Formats: sequence, structure tokens, C-alpha cells
Amino acid sequence: MNQTVRHYDQPEVLGLENGLEAFQSSPAFRGPVEPLDEHTCNDHFAHIYETREEKFEAAIPFIRHGLECGERVMYIIEESTEAEVREAMCDAGLDVDAALATGALTFHTVQETYLRNGSFDPDEMIDFYGEMVTEATEDYEALRIVAEMTWLDDDDTSVERFIEYEQKINDLFEHTDSLAICQYNRDLFEPEVIRNVVQTHPHLIYDGAACHNIYYTPPEEFFGADAPARENERMLRTLRDRTTAKAQLHRRERFLQNLYEVSSDPTLSFEEKLQALFDLGCEQFDLELGAMAKVDPDADQFEVEFVSDDHEYFEAGLELPLSETYCTAATDTDGVGSVSDPVEAGYDDTYVHDEFGIKTYFGTYIEVEGDDNRTFFFVSEKPRDEDFSANERTFQRLLGQWVKYELERQQRERFLHECYEITSDPALDFEEKLERLLELGCDRFGLEIAGLNHLPSWDGKFRLEKGIGLGVDSDAELWTDPDNGCYCRQTMVEDSPVGTVDVRDTRWAEDTIYQEFGLTSYLGTNVSTGAAPYGTLWFGSTEPRDRPFSETERSFIELMGQWVSYEIEQRENNDSQRKLYEITANPDLDPDEKIDQLLEVGCKRLNLPIGMLTHKRERAFEIEHMHGSHPELDEGTLTPPLTDNYCRRVVNTGNSISVGDAGEAGWDGDALYTEFNLKCYAGTQVFIRGENYGTVCFTDMGPREEFTEAEQVFLDILGQCVSYELERQQHEADLKETIDQLEQSNDRLKQFAYAASHDLQEPLRMVSTYLQLLENRYKADLDEDAREFIDFAVNGADRMRKMVDDLLAFSRVEHTGDEFDSVDCDAVLDHAIDDLQIQIEEKEAEIISESLPTVRGDQEQLEHLFRNLVSNATKYNESDRPRVEISADQRSNRWKFSVTDNGIGIDPDGADKIFDVFKRLHHDDEYSGTGVGLSLCQKIANNHGGEIWVESEPGAGSTFSFTLPAVENSTQ
Ligand code: ADP
Repeated sequence: MNQTVRHYDQPEVLGLENGLEAFQSSPAFRGPVEPLDEHTCNDHFAHIYETREEKFEAAIPFIRHGLECGERVMYIIEESTEAEVREAMCDAGLDVDAALATGALTFHTVQETYLRNGSFDPDEMIDFYGEMVTEATEDYEALRIVAEMTWLDDDDTSVERFIEYEQKINDLFEHTDSLAICQYNRDLFEPEVIRNVVQTHPHLIYDGAACHNIYYTPPEEFFGADAPARENERMLRTLRDRTTAKAQLHRRERFLQNLYEVSSDPTLSFEEKLQALFDLGCEQFDLELGAMAKVDPDADQFEVEFVSDDHEYFEAGLELPLSETYCTAATDTDGVGSVSDPVEAGYDDTYVHDEFGIKTYFGTYIEVEGDDNRTFFFVSEKPRDEDFSANERTFQRLLGQWVKYELERQQRERFLHECYEITSDPALDFEEKLERLLELGCDRFGLEIAGLNHLPSWDGKFRLEKGIGLGVDSDAELWTDPDNGCYCRQTMVEDSPVGTVDVRDTRWAEDTIYQEFGLTSYLGTNVSTGAAPYGTLWFGSTEPRDRPFSETERSFIELMGQWVSYEIEQRENNDSQRKLYEITANPDLDPDEKIDQLLEVGCKRLNLPIGMLTHKRERAFEIEHMHGSHPELDEGTLTPPLTDNYCRRVVNTGNSISVGDAGEAGWDGDALYTEFNLKCYAGTQVFIRGENYGTVCFTDMGPREEFTEAEQVFLDILGQCVSYELERQQHEADLKETIDQLEQSNDRLKQFAYAASHDLQEPLRMVSTYLQLLENRYKADLDEDAREFIDFAVNGADRMRKMVDDLLAFSRVEHTGDEFDSVDCDAVLDHAIDDLQIQIEEKEAEIISESLPTVRGDQEQLEHLFRNLVSNATKYNESDRPRVEISADQRSNRWKFSVTDNGIGIDPDGADKIFDVFKRLHHDDEYSGTGVGLSLCQKIANNHGGEIWVESEPGAGSTFSFTLPAVENSTQ
């Protein structure tokens, strides 16, 4: 029932308003419906129509409404056929057969009704309707009648008789549960008949509009000698009423226009708007001063906040007891109040009357949510003759509504701004922000306790993560059992905030929270991380609340809950990401364990039970790893080879994909959906060296909420971690293969070098032996040249043997890092010098060495190293007194050794080459050698993780330096 109808002083019985309601609520009725406001009339419509469509347009909603209200509907058919009526009803979706079968709908002919005795008899008809109503209301709520009146045209009923009938039927309908539409075809009746119909029906439906009939003439006035005078009187009155109504409407429109212009002007501040409204009100109500005051009726307080004009007494800041002001006229009514005669209204001994001389008051009481209540009023020192009109009261109410709206809007904005200030403050951490938000909320809601509760596992207990006003430390751990947890339990399962202002008479009173802490009023909202429930954010008090939680307050707590959810999700995201990195970087986990742990973190973060790594095969995806279980899927399973497979979508689109409800996303044709029941899915691509390998994906056999942005970012990172891990595994496998191959080829090379040098020894020996034999045996026969040639050949063979020997030594030097020992370099050098004794003595060389350290290495190799360097230092030396100095410097965990000579030095162009095998800077005639020595030194230094290099100037000696690893915790 609409607002207008409710205001009407309606009778208990079925009335006209029900008919209007039928038209107003029906989309089939196209026209406007004039409200009943200030009209009293009987329950009887006349419908004047011209076409068949028009006829049903009003009748069908009227019937439907009656059937829906449990009434009996009587349809008297005359002009139409029953089939036509049925068709129109069926077209409108009415179940005609059912209604007929139950008797809720009945069809009648005029012969059964109006013309029962062959012609129309008003009295009998009234009796008949009376009986019908009595009968109908035994089983039904009321009787509704639709009557086609075409019969009237043929019947010889006089106008007088018909009017008489109308009067009686009006009486009947007014006092019984009945309502009727009489339908008149305008084309069928004489204009005069239609005029009579118009005059005798207070309510007319015409051309799609249901209207109050200003031409209505009450039946009792219809006839008689003074009928014309009454008619004139009515016409004049109608004229005047309409003019007054028009003028009022115009005033109302102008007022609304002004109000709209002021309130919607974006260039005006609140104060300026207020001032404009004061001006508007003063003009409208013809009063001198407008003002707004903060009031508290309970505390009897009144404080002026704004005044429209300078006034001797009324000014901002003025405080008075509310009871000494006229504002009680408004606060007492909870709405608009006025005083136009202070003496009569009992205000003559108030302060404002006596001291300020105020005689007239017109104001509104405004209850402002989250702020002080106000009165918005106008006063005058002049008395006023008449009271304020209904129109003026409406204006006053509208002004009050605007002020209320504005104050509440400001209040909301202020609160949101404060929330924003807290949440965006970079100097505060999450805990501090939360605490301040809780304090702000307490202040806003007028509650003294607040907290954030976390439910770690659905069947477990709630933990208070942060609480204020509970009389316990705000970081103290406080657990509550969800068995009795009405407050948080209920809040967690609801989508929107849950609140109660007094739990005492509810089952919540059994909750531990009430029993232990006496929490009597409560407002809470749920907090979640992505799709996973996390807990509740709540506010409460040990006192019942004096007012319900408003929509605004609910939306505030919801907003705070959303912020907390977001922050917690971020925190969880960071935690999960950290876990991912830890797993990926953990060297102690084997590859399978790593993948499984990564999937486990994913399942937890996305709150899904199944996580998989799939490998793209030619037509299907193979599950390579699976965390969690599924009745039909397992490691090694090939997913159905369909082109629209979930994972295939990820690979085809090249993007991560997540759907909370695969059915809703239109994936219900996929075999994974139909056969394997996978109802939600989040998957991302996995790559190895830029090539797509497959997917890492998470799923469940039930749908869930859509994935949040943060969850999708997490999924991408997880995909990268898995890709990285697979790539690393691949890399390691490749490396191992290369090392294996290298080792094999080294072995082969070693075997070759050994075999070559070993096997070459024999033929070489043969060459030199037979050459010497030749020389000895045929010495006499050989001339000088031949002997010289043989010498060359023997020398060549000898040199080659040395080279082969050196090569053999070179190939034997191996990487023996694991077998390194502590080696005393003093001893090593001594040994080397011993070996070189003859050479040193020949050259009369001086070997000077400081005390050398102990290093980690291979003794034999180091002897080779020192021997070669000391040997070269004396060999490539033309000084009268060759000098070789050996020294060592520690550099963190290694030693740098230097062998410095005063020899011939090295040409810079050759310095790079001398470490290559067989590379020499001198011919054998000058200095004998094979060119292997320094390459061997380099190999030995490298074997020990060190390097070798030379610094030299031709003619100024050379320094060969190399590094070796130090013995741990030792400088010696
Ligand atoms: P070899 O001494 O058998 O020729 P090495 O590999 O030991 O082979 O040395 C390579 C070349 O480096 C030598 O032929 C020589 O020309 C040059 N060389 C090595 N040590 C010195 C040095 N201390 N002073 C000058 N030249 C050197």
C-alpha cells in the first residue's frame, strides 16, 4: 500500500484505495492515478472507454489485485464474449482456469444479474449484491465486481431510476467489503447517458487515468428544484478550489526551486547555504530571524550555533536551558513545531519570551546521526494571527531535511577523512593504525570496547589480536570458544555487518563474551584475506545502546573491515612470498620436496586444497606433482585432451587465469568441470628457458569467491618461483652432463697423452740408439757432414723425448682439491733447490728466501712449481751473480708468492704467450727447454684455485707471482 493511501482515514472494509493500489502497482495500467489525499468517496469506479484494449487495461489489474488479495472476483459479461475475457486474462498471465476452479473468479451474464427478472430493478439488484457480498465474504476477504454496462443501453430504465440505484449501491459498497468497476463504452451510449454516468460517479477512469471527479454530483442533489442552484454553487466552488490549488502548487514549486538552487550550488559553503536558507525561510514565513542551535532535550541544553542576522540577544554561542526557549515546541514533537500565541501555548514565562520579546516561533527538530541534535528555526518579535499552514509546515520540514542531510554528510566526510589520515600515515605501523581506528570507531559509535578477533582454524577458538577498552593489555592474548561464540560466529558468516543494541533478551546472552565481559551492545563485521575468512572487527559496550545502528554506521564499520582485510592480506602475501623465496633458496631440499612445499604454500595462501604442477604434452597436460588429493586425479594422470582444458586456456592466452566459479565463467562444458568436478581454478604458466613447460595451478571441487588482485599477484610470483626451480634443476642436469662428458674426454685425453708419450718413448729411443750405433760403427766411413747430420738427428730425438716427458708430466697434473693437505712451502722450496743444485752451482746463483708459509695444496705439484720458477730464474739470467728472491704476502685467505730474478727479463709482447704449452721466446741454441714448464706452473696454480702472472722489463729481471690458498686459521 502506498504512502498516500496510508494517510487516508480508511475504513476497515475493502475500499477505494485498494482499487487505486491495483492501478498504481500494475504495469498494465498506463495512466496516472490521482492519490486519495483529502478526498472521501465511495468504493465505486466508472470506467469510460472507447476500445476493447482500454477496457481490459483497467479491468485486468483490478482483477489480478483482487485475486492476489484473496478476494472473490465477479465478472459480469455483456459486451464481450466469455472467450474474449478469458483470452485477455490469460494474455496478462492470470491462471483463469485455476481461479474458476476454486471459485475465486466467476463469470456472469446480465440475465443472471442486472436483468434477472427481464428488466432492471434497483432494489432487487441491491439485495442481490448484498447477498453476493455476504456469500463471498464467508470464504473470501471481499468481493470485487467488474460489470460491463452495455445492457443499460437496451433497457428502458429511466435516468432517475438509475441514479437512485447508484445512490443505493454507493451506500452498500461503502459499508461492505466490496469494490466495483462499472464499464461504459462511450461509443455505444448516448452522450446524455455518459454525462449522467460522469455526474453520478465520484471516481472515473478515463483515457488511462484514474481521477477524482470534480463533476460528481451526489445523488441526493441530482434532482429537485434547487438542483441548478446547487450545481452553480458547486461549479463556482470548484473553480475557486482549483485556482487556490494552482496558486499553492505554484508557491510550492517556487519554494522547491529556490531550495534546490541554494542546496545544489557548488560554489556556496555550508554557512552560505545556511544563510540563503534562512533568507528563504524568513521570506516564506514572514519572520525576522532564522537560527540553528545545538540542543539536548535530556540535558535541557540549548546553544545557538548560527543566526541569520545581527540580533540584540540571539547570537552564536548563546546558551540557555532548552526549557527556557520555544524550541521545546519542536523537540517535543520530534519534528516541526510552532508557537504563534505564546500565552495560549504556555510559553509566556519563558526566558526568550520575557527577556528577548520573542512572540512567534516556527522550527524543526533535527536528530543528527553521529553529531549533536539541532533545532532549525525562525522567530519574530511580532505576534502572528494565524497558525502556520500545512504548506508552510512542509517547507519547514524540507528545510530541516536538507540541514540534516548536510550535517550528516559533513559528519560522514569528517569520519572518512580521519580514517584516511590514520590509514595513510606512513609513520604508523599496522598495529598502531589498527589501534587508532578502533579508538576512532569507539568515539563515532559511542561504544567503549573494540577489537580484532582472529579465527585461526574454523573449528578452533577465536583469539583477540587487538582489543581496547576491555581492561586488559591491548596486546594480551584472549581466547574465546566459538561453541558459544554468537557474536563473532554470526558476524563471520554474514556478508554485511552484524549488530545488536541489547543482547540481554537474545540467545547471545549465553555467549562467553556476555557472561564474562558483559558485552551488551555489539557491532561487528567480518575480516578476510582474499577468500579465506580471517576473523572479525567489532565494537561494543557493556551498556545497551539507546539507538539502533544506522546504515551509515554499518557502512563505516564495513569500510574499516575492508581496510583491515586488505592490510592483513598484504601481510599474508608478504609472508607467503617470503616462504616461497626461502623454499626456493633452501639448498637442503631435494627438487621434489621443493616443488611440493611451493605447492603447499600456494594451497594455503589461496585457501584451496589441491595444487598441481602440470607438464604440457602434445595433446594433454600431465600432472607431474600434486599437493592434496582428488579421487580421480594424481601424479602421472593426463588431463582430458580437450582444446578448452583449463590449463590450455592459461597457455593459449599466455596469462594467469583465475575463476572462483568455473560454472559461472562458462567453463561447464570442460571435462575437468563435468568429469572431475573442478569448480574453481587459478593457474599460471611455467617456463623453462623461455619455453612454455606447463602450468602451476590450484583447484577445488567446490566454487569459491573470486580471486583478489593480491592472490593473483601471488600466483604469478609462485609461477616464477616454480619456473626458476625447474630451470635450476634443468641447469644442474645440463651441468652434470657437461661435467660427465668433460671428465670422459679428459680421461680419454689423459689416456691418449700417456699412451702417446709412453709409446713414443720406444721408437724415439730406437731412433737415437740406432743413430748412435750408425755413428759408432761406421765412424770411419762417414765424412764430417754425415757425422754432423747424425748429431742433429740425435739432438732432435733427445729434445723430442724431453718434450714428450714434460708433456707426460703435464697430463698427469690433476685437480686434486679434495686431497689437499697442509704443505710447508719452506720444505718444498728446499727440495726444489736440492734438485737444482748442479744448475745453481754452475751459474753460481744466489737463492734468497724469507720464511715461507704453510698452505693447502699438493706437495708434489708445488715442488714442480717452485722448481720450474727457480730454474727459469737462474737459466734466463746473464748476470755475473744471478740472484733469485722468494717471498710471500698474506691476502685474506690466500698467500701471494713472488719469485724475483735479476735475469734477462721478458719482452712485453711475449709476456702473454709464455704460459701456453710449447711457447718459448728463445731458440734451443740460446737456452735449452721445451716450453712446457710455465704452462705446467699455470695448471698447478689454477688447480689450487690460484693464478700466476709475470711482471718484467727486458734486461731488468722478472717477477713471477702466484697465489695459493692459506691454511684455515693460520698465518703460517
Ligand atoms: P722453457 O724454459 O722450457 O723454455 P718455460 O715454459 O719454462 O719453458 O718458459 C717459457 C719461456 O718463457 C722461456 O722459453 C723463456 O723464453 C721465458 N722465460 C721463462 N722464465 C723466464 C725468466 N725468469 N726470465 C726470462 N724469460 C723467462
